[in-house]
Amino acid sequence: MSSGAPTPKVPNPVRQFIDDETGTSNVRLLRSFRAQLTALYLAFFSLLFVLFSIFLYGELSRSLTARLDNTLASEADTAAVLFPDELQEMHGDAPAAAREVVMELKVHGDFVTIREGSHVLAASPNFAPDPRDRSAARTVQAAGRTYHIAVSAPLDSIHAELAVVRRAIFIALPLILALAGLGGYVLATRGLRPLGWMADQARRITGSNLDTRIQIDNAAEELSVLVTSFNELLARLDQSFDTMRRFVADASHELRTPIAVIRGEADVALSQERSPAEYRESLAVVLDEARRLSRLVDDLLNLARADAGHVTLQTQDFYLNELLAECCRSVQGLAITRGLALECLPGDDLQFTGDEQLLRRLVINLLDNAIRYTPSGGKVSATLQTGATSVQLRVSDTGIGIAPADAARVFERFYRAGEARSRQDGGFGLGLAIVRWVAESHRGAVECTSTSGHGSTFTVTLPK
Ligand code: ADP
Repeated sequence: MSSGAPTPKVPNPVRQFIDDETGTSNVRLLRSFRAQLTALYLAFFSLLFVLFSIFLYGELSRSLTARLDNTLASEADTAAVLFPDELQEMHGDAPAAAREVVMELKVHGDFVTIREGSHVLAASPNFAPDPRDRSAARTVQAAGRTYHIAVSAPLDSIHAELAVVRRAIFIALPLILALAGLGGYVLATRGLRPLGWMADQARRITGSNLDTRIQIDNAAEELSVLVTSFNELLARLDQSFDTMRRFVADASHELRTPIAVIRGEADVALSQERSPAEYRESLAVVLDEARRLSRLVDDLLNLARADAGHVTLQTQDFYLNELLAECCRSVQGLAITRGLALECLPGDDLQFTGDEQLLRRLVINLLDNAIRYTPSGGKVSATLQTGATSVQLRVSDTGIGIAPADAARVFERFYRAGEARSRQDGGFGLGLAIVRWVAESHRGAVECTSTSGHGSTFTVTLPK
């Protein structure tokens, strides 16, 4: 098969249900569900009806046969009582006595035979014995002789009654099945109706009204579970969409400022002839903003990749204490410029497995913040502590601190505590979001304790 050949479309009812925009497939699927439910209901009901009919027919047949047997037995008993009396009355004339008994029992319509040995003394007229007949036999001793009395009846009457029942069943069967099918169809339609409503409401939900929730009044328990799960899914989607929207809006907002500065600076520089010193000054501003811009774009890209799950940690073994010492060295110049004391306590050799680049980023972000938000004369310290199962990296400062209301939110993207203050310092509000992401991607966590005006401590806990 050529690789370019179009893949045949395999009809999938569930996909159709979700994909179809016109909604006709939903209806078709519901109908087929309805048909399936009706067919199942009908098949089950037919089976029940057939089994019940077989049981009823069998029971009726057994009870009719038992009733006939009882009748024959009681007639045979009557004959056995009558015969000796008649024999006495007839002065021992057995054939005459037998005839008299047969005559008396004739009213019942059954066949009576009275024999002495193999000799038939009397028998009902038109008697044609059939091995399938039901019969009852009695042996009578009278005047020193032995007589055999047999009363029998054909099964025809029972067969006739059973035939009536059979006919009734065959006439009733299609009628009952038709009614059952109709009932099943109505029940299935009623049962599936809320699903149709759900589908209708779901179809009306788009990216712009994700806050809508599906509502089904008086829904059955199973359906409420479905509705609740669906609504929870919508809530999660709504939240993700909201975060995404906010992220895009904040990112565009942040991008606008440096771009505006670059444009403004270029406009001013080009508006008239300038001295080389003025051009250099303008270019320095442009370069500074361009650096900020590229830092922002890098941060955004990192976070976007992290969101998309595209970042794979480049894990390797390295010494975490060395990493901390290197980071401290790289910000030492900045700390001195700001008039701060930087204390670095990396501790003993501590081998660690993780993404060195990302962890370096984490430490630099924390140190950078500590230096930026600590006024001149303050102190910034970085320590590394090893526990039994985890490592704690702590960056403290004696800076401006964070108000309790802000402390909970500083790890959010683009969140700045004291908007004007931070903006002036040049932060985008992404540094701590990246810190949290790096910590969490190493199965660790970060927390912040701070007292407004007295400094902050950021503690990153990483499993060993
Ligand atoms: P930014 O780039 O604005 O510094 P961050 O995500 O690194 O963004 O920090 C978010 C906010 O948290 C900052 O705007 C600042 O208000 C506050 N913050 C972070 N670190 C400190 C600190 N060491 N001392 C005081 N405030 C801090």
